[in-house]
Amino acid sequence: LTSKLSEVFKKLTSRGKLSEQDVKAAMREVKMALLEADVNFLVVKKFIKTVSERAVGSEILESLTPGQQVIKVVNEELTNLMGSTVSKLTVASAPPSVYMLVGLQGAGKTTMAGKLAGYLKKQGKNPLLCACDIYRPAAIQQLKVLGEKLEIPVFEEGQKDAVKTALHGVQYAKDNGHDAVLLDTAGRLHIDTELMDELKRMKKAVDPHEILLVVDSMTGQDAVNVAQSFHDTLEISGVILTKLDGDTRGGAALSVKAVTGQPIKFAGVGEKLTDIEPFYPERMASRILGMGDVLSLIEKAQAAFDEKQAAKLEERIKSQKFDLEDFMDQLQQMKKMGSMSDILAMMPGMNASKLGNVELDEKQLSRTEAIVSSMTVAERQNPAIINGSRRKRIAAGSGTSIQQVNQLLRQFDSMKKMMRQFTDMERGGRRRGRMK
Ligand code: GDP
Ligand code: MG
Repeated sequence: LTSKLSEVFKKLTSRGKLSEQDVKAAMREVKMALLEADVNFLVVKKFIKTVSERAVGSEILESLTPGQQVIKVVNEELTNLMGSTVSKLTVASAPPSVYMLVGLQGAGKTTMAGKLAGYLKKQGKNPLLCACDIYRPAAIQQLKVLGEKLEIPVFEEGQKDAVKTALHGVQYAKDNGHDAVLLDTAGRLHIDTELMDELKRMKKAVDPHEILLVVDSMTGQDAVNVAQSFHDTLEISGVILTKLDGDTRGGAALSVKAVTGQPIKFAGVGEKLTDIEPFYPERMASRILGMGDVLSLIEKAQAAFDEKQAAKLEERIKSQKFDLEDFMDQLQQMKKMGSMSDILAMMPGMNASKLGNVELDEKQLSRTEAIVSSMTVAERQNPAIINGSRRKRIAAGSGTSIQQVNQLLRQFDSMKKMMRQFTDMERGGRRRGRMK
């Protein structure tokens, strides 16, 4: 098992204070991780500079290696940069509090309006949803469906005038005892002046307590431009990141925060109306770095792995020669390190559930050993040749069943695929790195 960050950790073994060289080496990897997470290039540059300055010369904690120390600093700074957890919405001194949701089309505004309304209702508030996306009948209908599900009223005036709808909606809330209004506005695929102009007029008309920019966390590099234009025109008061349940690394969070300086208040983490969370900067930092729980993984790995064997294995993985004998070796190493699922869960960018059940136990390990030793050398080196009759022979020879042989071959396959992913990831990263 290889990972770029762990490679760096291995290289850095000196003690004392962090040298410029230690920091430089680690920073290259950090930079790559940030760029891969789609953090804007300029934001990355500035960040690396700040962190390097802080890290060079700093004392290395007794319990950490220099590499770990650098990562610790990086993680802290990243968390700082994204701000503390501010999931509170500004509340109006005289109700109703008016919250205006803005953002590009498909960012998740309508869904988030529903989620926020539900969230406020749970806190004992009496929210009103207001349909200000008047350009498509379907948009109004979408909000009404959400309102019905949540049992929260939806104010709408059809497709007449977005600004007036907002104004009348706020008045309706005042007259009917609603203490919060959520304005669901229209988005476009790209920022255009007509849309911005309408939003500006709406802001002027209703003077909202918060303007929340809803950003799809998969937006990537473009997040900076989106945030910049919305902030320039509307002076947003906060950000909401949606679709964090996807496999994005979430670099948009950092970019948007860096550009607007406004706090990220909530995160959308799924399509259900209850899929809303306060924003957690520490979690986001680890996610952006793609660290999983790299630090503890490294510690475990170093305790159990024979360095030479690891190097040999890495070589074989890289040359795609990984075969069933290596698989056996690997399983035995894994066994020393704890369960395979535990380890996979700690790998950056790895989702153990995707790999199915690869849990190992003692019995399974000896069964695996028996099965592999019943194979011929040719079979071990090229499992593809193991056809039906070979499977039968191997099962009989190892005192197992054909199903068990099949299961092992499947496990081997998924492990091989996973390893290919790692090496591809590494190659991809290097290639991109060279282009700069
Ligand atoms: P709008 O155009 O900004 O109003 O975006 P919508 O609220 O209509 O959402 C666009 C699509 O994204 C819909 O299919 C939503 O179900 C989906 N969506 C919104 N928020 C999330 C989220 O947090 N996670 C996931 N997986 N999908 C989301
Ligand atoms: Mg919408």
